[in-house]
Order: sequence, then C-alpha cells, then structure tokens
Amino acid sequence: MDAIKEQWLILLSTPVYIIIIGLELLLTHLQHRKSYTLKDTAANVYLMLLNSGLDLAFRVVYLAVLQYFYERRWIGIESVALYWVLLVLLEDMVYYWLHRFDHHIRLFWAVHVTHHSSTYMNFTVGFRSSVFQPLYRFIYFIPLALLGFRPVDIVFVYSATQIWGIFVHTELIHKMGWLEYILVTPSHHRVHHGSNPKYLDRNMGMFLIIWDKLFGTFQPELPAEKYQPIAYGLTKNINAPNAVSIIFHEWKQIWQDTTQKGITLKSRLRYLLGQPGWSHDGSRMTSGEMREEEAVVLNPEPGTAGQVPGVVDEGANFLDYKTAL
Ligand SMILES: [Zn+2]
Ligand SMILES: [Zn+2]
Repeated sequence: MDAIKEQWLILLSTPVYIIIIGLELLLTHLQHRKSYTLKDTAANVYLMLLNSGLDLAFRVVYLAVLQYFYERRWIGIESVALYWVLLVLLEDMVYYWLHRFDHHIRLFWAVHVTHHSSTYMNFTVGFRSSVFQPLYRFIYFIPLALLGFRPVDIVFVYSATQIWGIFVHTELIHKMGWLEYILVTPSHHRVHHGSNPKYLDRNMGMFLIIWDKLFGTFQPELPAEKYQPIAYGLTKNINAPNAVSIIFHEWKQIWQDTTQKGITLKSRLRYLLGQPGWSHDGSRMTSGEMREEEAVVLNPEPGTAGQVPGVVDEGANFLDYKTAL
C-alpha cells in the first residue's frame, strides 16, 4: 500500500513535469530568452539519476534506521488529520534546518553545491540534486520517527513536498499573490539561487516560507530599481564543468585546503566544518562578509574608510560594486 502511494505520486507528477518543461521551453524560445542549454540540462538529468539511484540503493538502510527509532517512539498521534498536518509542518521545518546546515557547514555544502552550480533557472534545475544527500538526510528525520511518524510516511511526505520544490525553479512565474506569504514560491526560490551577496544563503524552505521568516533567513526578490538582477549560480562558478568536477570540485578544494602546509589543526577543521568561504589568512569571504562588504560599498558613510574610490554613494548599483571589487 505504501509503495503504491509513492508510485502514484511519480505516475501523476511525471506527465506534469513533461508538460511544464515543454511549455517553459516554448515560452522562453518565443520570448527570445536563453534559459536552457543542452549541456546544462544534461547535467541536471545526470545529477538527478545519480541521486535517485543512490537514494533507492540506500533506502533499505535508512528505512531500517528510522524503523528502529519508530519502534522506540515517545508518543503516538491518534487523530489522522492532526498526524498528517503535523508531519508536513514538522518535516518541512526539519528540512529547512537540513538545508540551512548544508549551506553553513562546508562538508555538507560540498554535497549541496551541485544544486547551485547551474547558471540558469528553469524547471530542470529542480532536478539538479545534491547527489549524496540521501546518505545523511534521514538523520534529520530521526526525531520525527521518535514522535511517532511512520518511516514510510516520512519518506512519502518528503517526496510530495519535493514535487513543489521542483516546480518553484522557473522564471516564468513572477509573483503568486497571497501565496507568497505562506509557500515557497518561484520568486523566493530564484533568490535562493542568486549569487548576489544580498541573496546568498536566503530562503532555505522547500514547501513553506514561514520557516525563513521565523528563523531570520527570508529575503524577498527585489525590483530592478532597488537591486541588481539575479546572477544565478555560485559566487565562483566552476571552470569548464564536467561530469566529475560538477560533483567533486568542492571536495577537491577541501582536500587542498585541509592538507596544506603550515596551518594549525583548528584551521584544518574549520576548512572542513566551518562556514564556506572561511580561510585562515582572510583571503576569501563568507556570505556574511560579502553581504557586509556590499552594504558598505552601496551605502558608504561619507568620509569613512568604507568608501571605495570611484564608487559614488548616490545611485550606486551592482555594476559599480562589481567594478569596485
Ligand atoms: Zn540551497
Ligand atoms: Zn533550487
């Protein structure tokens, strides 16, 4: 029965994906916008296949672990409606924290970075998975099993909310009215994929945007008169990406950083578990530092050291900022 529930989900969502991708291809073509390339889309499909294969192969292990905790559950929820509402709410909140840690701990960022390395925004980017995430995602779900949620239901809700998580990868939909207050919308998720300092590590939710508002990571998409257009991708995009480098480039960099000569053990650990962008000699910047620097450049206090020569404070925009750097 449980397997059937998930098969229905796949059966119903697949034709919808095909239709919306076809529609997006057609509309962006008619608008003369280049939002798809064959190479980028092939990478998205390739990452999805690897992720789903790994997820399927590992499923028996993580379901067994969750089952172990479920059998030792602390409580049981009697009401069916309450059970499902709570499961969706709590699981979405847990996912928010998983995603947030993926962004803030470099070891996990090395896994999640694959989802962010496309410089395009279209529905197929939604399939551009964090390949190795199935190996640790279930750890975040252990508290849910302890709260009396069945492992198969946890996996089902993850798959169901992920469908929404895929649909928000588009430039076709501008804003969604009152839904903007509750759900993660395409506008919110475009921000999440932006490499512009103000947009880094923002809007981490998958289904509900309330967690970002509650935990202080919400950032609305700003109109052209207020901020520069979104630059999709990474702050430093991969040079000549290929099948291997797309997945392993950050791992390689971590290896080089942690094994370099003449640094302390603490620094090595920070290169592995610290914030992405941290460096022992201050030669790189974290997202917070980039944001601070941008704020100084765009709004310098007259006469302070923060003022960058050649950048005027009035009407300064992102292009000025880029030039200043
Ligand atoms: Zn992310
Ligand atoms: Zn995304």
